[in-house]
Amino acid sequence: MRVRNKPWAKELLEENPKFVILKPEEHKGRLHEFFGNNNPIHIEVGTGKGRFITEMAKANPNINYIGIELSTSVIVTALEKIIEDQIPNVKLMNVNAEKLTDYFADGEISRLYLNFSDPWPKTRHEKRRLTYKRFLAIYEQILKPNGEIHFKTDNRGLFEYSLVSFSNYGLLLTFVSLDLHKSDYEGNIMTEYEEKFSKRGFPIYRSEVMFGSQNKSYAKTEDTE
Ligand code: SAM
Repeated sequence: MRVRNKPWAKELLEENPKFVILKPEEHKGRLHEFFGNNNPIHIEVGTGKGRFITEMAKANPNINYIGIELSTSVIVTALEKIIEDQIPNVKLMNVNAEKLTDYFADGEISRLYLNFSDPWPKTRHEKRRLTYKRFLAIYEQILKPNGEIHFKTDNRGLFEYSLVSFSNYGLLLTFVSLDLHKSDYEGNIMTEYEEKFSKRGFPIYRSEVMFGSQNKSYAKTEDTE
Protein backbone atom coordinates (compact mmCIF):
# COMPACT_ATOMS: atom_id res chain seq x y z
CA MET A 1 0.00 0.00 0.00
CA ARG A 2 1.45 3.39 -0.95
CA VAL A 3 0.90 5.75 1.97
CA ARG A 4 1.45 9.48 2.03
CA ASN A 5 3.73 10.38 4.91
CA LYS A 6 1.86 12.49 7.47
CA PRO A 7 4.42 14.13 9.78
CA TRP A 8 1.62 15.43 12.03
CA ALA A 9 0.14 11.98 12.60
CA LYS A 10 2.32 11.01 15.58
CA GLU A 11 1.39 14.24 17.33
CA LEU A 12 -2.34 13.68 16.82
CA LEU A 13 -2.01 10.17 18.29
CA GLU A 14 -0.15 11.57 21.31
CA GLU A 15 -2.79 14.25 21.83
CA ASN A 16 -5.53 11.62 22.12
CA PRO A 17 -4.68 9.27 25.01
CA LYS A 18 -8.42 8.70 25.48
CA PHE A 19 -8.54 6.74 22.22
CA VAL A 20 -4.93 5.67 21.68
CA ILE A 21 -3.15 3.25 24.00
CA LEU A 22 0.18 5.10 23.92
CA LYS A 23 2.15 2.85 26.31
CA PRO A 24 0.50 -0.53 25.82
CA GLU A 25 3.02 -2.42 28.02
CA GLU A 26 1.65 -0.49 31.00
CA HIS A 27 -1.88 -1.78 30.42
CA LYS A 28 -0.97 -5.42 29.85
CA GLY A 29 -3.43 -7.60 31.73
CA ARG A 30 -5.42 -4.54 32.85
CA LEU A 31 -7.03 -3.38 29.63
CA HIS A 32 -10.50 -3.62 31.14
CA GLU A 33 -9.48 -0.67 33.35
CA PHE A 34 -8.66 1.37 30.25
CA PHE A 35 -12.14 0.64 28.87
CA GLY A 36 -13.80 1.03 32.27
CA ASN A 37 -15.71 -2.26 32.05
CA ASN A 38 -15.20 -6.03 31.87
CA ASN A 39 -16.63 -6.56 28.40
CA PRO A 40 -14.83 -8.97 26.06
CA ILE A 41 -12.00 -7.53 23.97
CA HIS A 42 -11.78 -8.12 20.22
CA ILE A 43 -8.76 -6.92 18.24
CA GLU A 44 -8.12 -6.33 14.54
CA VAL A 45 -4.52 -6.81 13.41
CA GLY A 46 -3.62 -4.53 10.48
CA THR A 47 -6.61 -2.27 11.01
CA GLY A 48 -5.64 0.20 8.28
CA LYS A 49 -7.89 3.26 8.07
CA GLY A 50 -10.29 1.78 10.61
CA ARG A 51 -13.66 1.55 8.93
CA PHE A 52 -14.21 -2.06 10.07
CA ILE A 53 -13.22 -1.59 13.70
CA THR A 54 -15.16 1.66 14.15
CA GLU A 55 -18.34 0.31 12.53
CA MET A 56 -18.06 -2.92 14.55
CA ALA A 57 -17.72 -0.85 17.74
CA LYS A 58 -20.82 1.19 16.91
CA ALA A 59 -22.82 -1.96 16.08
CA ASN A 60 -21.66 -3.86 19.21
CA PRO A 61 -21.48 -1.48 22.18
CA ASN A 62 -20.98 -4.38 24.63
CA ILE A 63 -17.70 -5.44 23.02
CA ASN A 64 -14.43 -3.55 23.44
CA TYR A 65 -12.36 -3.23 20.26
CA ILE A 66 -8.69 -2.48 19.69
CA GLY A 67 -7.28 -1.68 16.25
CA ILE A 68 -3.60 -2.66 15.86
CA GLU A 69 -1.73 -0.94 13.04
CA LEU A 70 1.96 -0.58 12.24
CA SER A 71 1.76 2.54 10.09
CA THR A 72 1.31 5.86 11.92
CA SER A 73 0.25 7.62 8.72
CA VAL A 74 -2.53 5.05 8.20
CA ILE A 75 -3.83 4.57 11.75
CA VAL A 76 -4.30 8.32 12.11
CA THR A 77 -7.26 8.08 9.70
CA ALA A 78 -8.85 5.53 12.04
CA LEU A 79 -8.25 7.93 14.92
CA GLU A 80 -9.98 10.77 13.04
CA LYS A 81 -13.08 8.56 12.64
CA ILE A 82 -13.11 7.73 16.37
CA ILE A 83 -12.66 11.38 17.38
CA GLU A 84 -15.43 12.51 15.05
CA ASP A 85 -17.95 9.97 16.35
CA GLN A 86 -16.58 9.88 19.96
CA ILE A 87 -16.84 6.07 20.02
CA PRO A 88 -16.16 4.90 23.60
CA ASN A 89 -15.54 1.18 22.99
CA VAL A 90 -12.73 1.31 20.43
CA LYS A 91 -9.07 2.11 21.06
CA LEU A 92 -5.99 2.05 18.85
CA MET A 93 -2.44 0.75 19.21
CA ASN A 94 0.25 1.92 16.78
CA VAL A 95 2.44 -1.18 17.16
CA ASN A 96 3.81 -4.19 15.31
CA ALA A 97 1.81 -7.42 15.66
CA GLU A 98 5.09 -9.27 16.23
CA LYS A 99 5.11 -7.84 19.76
CA LEU A 100 1.51 -8.55 20.78
CA THR A 101 2.59 -10.71 23.72
CA ASP A 102 4.33 -7.63 25.21
CA TYR A 103 1.02 -5.75 25.20
CA PHE A 104 -1.60 -8.41 26.03
CA ALA A 105 -1.63 -10.90 28.90
CA ASP A 106 -2.26 -14.58 28.24
CA GLY A 107 -5.92 -15.10 27.42
CA GLU A 108 -6.82 -11.39 27.57
CA ILE A 109 -8.43 -11.34 24.12
CA SER A 110 -11.61 -13.13 22.97
CA ARG A 111 -11.43 -12.71 19.20
CA LEU A 112 -8.92 -11.56 16.61
CA TYR A 113 -9.78 -10.21 13.16
CA LEU A 114 -7.43 -10.26 10.18
CA ASN A 115 -8.81 -8.29 7.25
CA PHE A 116 -7.06 -8.08 3.89
CA SER A 117 -3.65 -8.76 5.37
CA ASP A 118 -0.69 -8.06 3.10
CA PRO A 119 -0.32 -11.23 0.98
CA TRP A 120 3.51 -11.36 0.75
CA PRO A 121 3.30 -13.69 -2.28
CA LYS A 122 7.01 -14.54 -2.51
CA THR A 123 7.92 -17.78 -0.74
CA ARG A 124 10.94 -16.12 0.89
CA HIS A 125 8.52 -13.68 2.56
CA GLU A 126 6.27 -16.39 4.02
CA LYS A 127 7.31 -15.51 7.59
CA ARG A 128 5.84 -12.01 7.18
CA ARG A 129 2.32 -13.30 6.44
CA LEU A 130 0.07 -12.65 9.43
CA THR A 131 -1.22 -16.24 9.22
CA TYR A 132 2.28 -17.78 9.38
CA LYS A 133 2.68 -20.26 12.24
CA ARG A 134 4.84 -17.87 14.29
CA PHE A 135 1.96 -15.36 14.32
CA LEU A 136 -0.56 -18.12 15.11
CA ALA A 137 1.53 -18.98 18.19
CA ILE A 138 1.42 -15.31 19.27
CA TYR A 139 -2.37 -15.18 18.76
CA GLU A 140 -2.83 -18.45 20.66
CA GLN A 141 -1.02 -17.00 23.67
CA ILE A 142 -3.09 -13.81 23.94
CA LEU A 143 -6.45 -15.41 23.04
CA LYS A 144 -8.69 -17.15 25.56
CA PRO A 145 -9.07 -20.92 25.26
CA ASN A 146 -11.48 -21.40 22.33
CA GLY A 147 -10.56 -17.90 21.10
CA GLU A 148 -11.32 -17.25 17.44
CA ILE A 149 -9.63 -15.77 14.39
CA HIS A 150 -11.94 -14.30 11.74
CA PHE A 151 -10.13 -13.79 8.45
CA LYS A 152 -11.17 -12.05 5.19
CA THR A 153 -9.20 -11.49 2.02
CA ASP A 154 -9.59 -11.00 -1.71
CA ASN A 155 -6.36 -12.92 -2.30
CA ARG A 156 -7.01 -16.57 -3.15
CA GLY A 157 -3.34 -17.55 -2.71
CA LEU A 158 -3.19 -16.06 0.77
CA PHE A 159 -6.55 -17.63 1.65
CA GLU A 160 -5.46 -21.13 0.60
CA TYR A 161 -2.11 -20.71 2.34
CA SER A 162 -3.87 -19.56 5.52
CA LEU A 163 -6.34 -22.45 5.59
CA VAL A 164 -3.41 -24.87 5.36
CA SER A 165 -1.48 -22.94 8.01
CA PHE A 166 -4.53 -22.94 10.35
CA SER A 167 -5.06 -26.64 9.77
CA ASN A 168 -1.39 -27.56 10.30
CA TYR A 169 -1.49 -25.61 13.56
CA GLY A 170 -4.45 -27.72 14.73
CA LEU A 171 -7.05 -24.96 14.56
CA LEU A 172 -10.67 -25.96 14.07
CA LEU A 173 -12.24 -24.48 10.94
CA THR A 174 -15.80 -23.45 11.82
CA PHE A 175 -16.82 -21.28 8.85
CA VAL A 176 -15.71 -20.88 5.27
CA SER A 177 -17.06 -18.82 2.36
CA LEU A 178 -15.47 -18.59 -1.06
CA ASP A 179 -17.71 -15.69 -2.11
CA LEU A 180 -18.86 -13.78 0.96
CA HIS A 181 -20.87 -11.10 -0.82
CA LYS A 182 -22.94 -13.67 -2.72
CA SER A 183 -23.49 -15.81 0.36
CA ASP A 184 -26.27 -15.50 2.93
CA TYR A 185 -23.82 -14.42 5.65
CA GLU A 186 -25.47 -11.57 7.56
CA GLY A 187 -23.98 -8.55 9.27
CA ASN A 188 -20.82 -8.22 7.21
CA ILE A 189 -19.03 -4.91 7.76
CA MET A 190 -16.84 -3.96 4.86
CA THR A 191 -13.29 -2.73 5.21
CA GLU A 192 -11.77 -0.06 2.95
CA TYR A 193 -9.88 -2.75 0.98
CA GLU A 194 -12.94 -4.95 0.77
CA GLU A 195 -14.96 -2.21 -0.86
CA LYS A 196 -12.17 -1.47 -3.33
CA PHE A 197 -11.62 -5.07 -4.42
CA SER A 198 -15.25 -6.16 -4.47
CA LYS A 199 -16.09 -3.15 -6.68
CA ARG A 200 -13.53 -4.54 -9.12
CA GLY A 201 -15.46 -7.82 -9.13
CA PHE A 202 -13.14 -9.94 -6.99
CA PRO A 203 -14.82 -12.49 -4.69
CA ILE A 204 -14.15 -12.08 -0.99
CA TYR A 205 -12.97 -15.15 0.94
CA ARG A 206 -13.80 -15.52 4.61
CA SER A 207 -13.02 -18.08 7.29
CA GLU A 208 -13.44 -18.50 11.04
CA VAL A 209 -11.13 -20.75 13.05
CA MET A 210 -10.98 -21.63 16.72
CA PHE A 211 -8.13 -22.60 19.04
CA GLY A 212 -8.21 -25.41 21.49
CA SER A 213 -11.35 -27.27 20.50
CA GLN A 214 -11.21 -30.99 21.19
CA ASN A 215 -14.44 -31.72 19.34
CA LYS A 216 -13.48 -31.62 15.71
CA SER A 217 -16.48 -31.18 13.45
CA TYR A 218 -17.13 -30.24 9.85
CA ALA A 219 -16.97 -26.56 8.93
CA LYS A 220 -20.13 -24.74 7.96
CA THR A 221 -20.01 -23.62 4.37
CA GLU A 222 -22.01 -20.86 2.74
CA ASP A 223 -24.24 -21.72 -0.18
CA THR A 224 -23.48 -19.30 -2.97
CA GLU A 225 -25.63 -18.59 -5.99
N1 SAM B 1 -7.59 -4.10 7.21
C1 SAM B 1 -7.56 -2.93 6.35
C2 SAM B 1 -8.55 -3.08 5.24
O1 SAM B 1 -9.01 -4.18 4.99
O2 SAM B 1 -8.89 -2.06 4.61
C3 SAM B 1 -6.14 -2.66 5.82
C4 SAM B 1 -5.56 -3.69 4.91
S1 SAM B 1 -3.89 -3.32 4.40
C5 SAM B 1 -3.67 -4.29 2.99
C6 SAM B 1 -2.92 -4.19 5.60
C7 SAM B 1 -2.53 -3.33 6.81
O3 SAM B 1 -1.86 -4.16 7.75
C8 SAM B 1 -1.59 -2.20 6.47
O4 SAM B 1 -2.15 -0.97 6.92
C9 SAM B 1 -0.30 -2.55 7.20
O5 SAM B 1 0.40 -1.40 7.67
C10 SAM B 1 -0.82 -3.41 8.34
N2 SAM B 1 0.19 -4.36 8.86
C11 SAM B 1 0.96 -5.19 8.13
N3 SAM B 1 1.78 -5.90 8.92
C12 SAM B 1 1.51 -5.50 10.19
C13 SAM B 1 2.04 -5.86 11.47
N4 SAM B 1 3.03 -6.76 11.57
N5 SAM B 1 1.55 -5.25 12.55
C14 SAM B 1 0.56 -4.32 12.46
N6 SAM B 1 0.02 -3.93 11.27
C15 SAM B 1 0.48 -4.51 10.16
